[in-house]
Amino acid sequence: MTATVRNVIIIGSGPAGYTAALYTARASLEPLVFEGSVTAGGALIQTTEVENFPGFRDGVMGPELMDEMRAQAERFGAELIPDDVTAVDLTEEIKTVTDSAGTVHRARAVIVATGSQHRKLGLPGEDALSGRGVSYCATCDGFFFKDQDIAVIGGGDTAMEEATFLSRFAKSVTIVHRRDTLRASKAMQERAFADPKITFAWDSEVAEIHDKDGKLGGLTLHSTKTGQTSELPVTGLFVAIGHDPRTELVKGQLDLDDEGYLKVASPSTRTNVQGVFAAGDVVDHTYRQAVTAAGTGCAAALDAERYLAALT
Ligand code: FAD
Repeated sequence: MTATVRNVIIIGSGPAGYTAALYTARASLEPLVFEGSVTAGGALIQTTEVENFPGFRDGVMGPELMDEMRAQAERFGAELIPDDVTAVDLTEEIKTVTDSAGTVHRARAVIVATGSQHRKLGLPGEDALSGRGVSYCATCDGFFFKDQDIAVIGGGDTAMEEATFLSRFAKSVTIVHRRDTLRASKAMQERAFADPKITFAWDSEVAEIHDKDGKLGGLTLHSTKTGQTSELPVTGLFVAIGHDPRTELVKGQLDLDDEGYLKVASPSTRTNVQGVFAAGDVVDHTYRQAVTAAGTGCAAALDAERYLAALT
């Protein structure tokens, strides 16, 4: 157990975590940030060009943007540790956070910004082609697929929303769904059915992802009814089969909603436990953007700052 009690510990180093670190550091709260070991820098580390983060007229590479955020937080005195938090006890006034070496760190406030993980198809080539034709976010990447043939995988609201959004840019959009009915709401289904650029590959799963010169070259589909295969010549693949918020660490201590996202007292970032705040995609079903994560990271820092001020 460390001797000192910190003001604030931040768990996560995506746009939410680094922004919370920047604000709490500038407020002289000397934050300690656990960045995670493998995924320090968060989801944008996995991507190439980011064109929709304000302030970068010509866009910016995801890893470069996260390096800048990291350096900015460090400049104001945030202490950054590229390690995983393995356990927390958030119930008492002084909270404890355990790192991978078993050291227990103590703080009066904790900000949880552990993000969410999009579900993958789990097929060979998927990771290698991520950012090279394979995407998990139409809002982020749709613009890169102007006049191209695209497949969207999934049958829920997100898949319908992504498909109708993508049809603005794309030449064609094929929704690949493993059943013959959709889970999406009636309204979303009707929008997709009415869109002349959208067609459906029913009862179908992606069996293979093809690499053509380092980019997506097409898909092989497998019929869940007949077992037959067919080729789908697309240059874009949007996987929209859901997200899993990273809440394992706090399960049983913080309130989660039905889908496992952390519940906060919106519009604040307060969780159900005093002194614990949450920000970014771990809270967010809806927007899941770097700028919205950074925005709620800022809000969590300000909420924590006010909470700590009221303690003294
Ligand atoms: P994340 O960025 O996911 O960060 C979570 C952090 O928590 C990570 O640093 C991880 O290491 C850490 N963590 C988790 N568990 C632990 C633990 N136990 N201990 C310590 N640390 C832990 N958005 C855009 O606005 N524009 C884009 O162009 C764009 N492109 C994208 C491309 C891809 C491929 C992906 C996957 C996402 C993209 N997004 C884009 C979405 C954007 O990246 C997310 O909305 C944003 O990163 C969410 O920020 P966050 O801080 O909430 O979480």
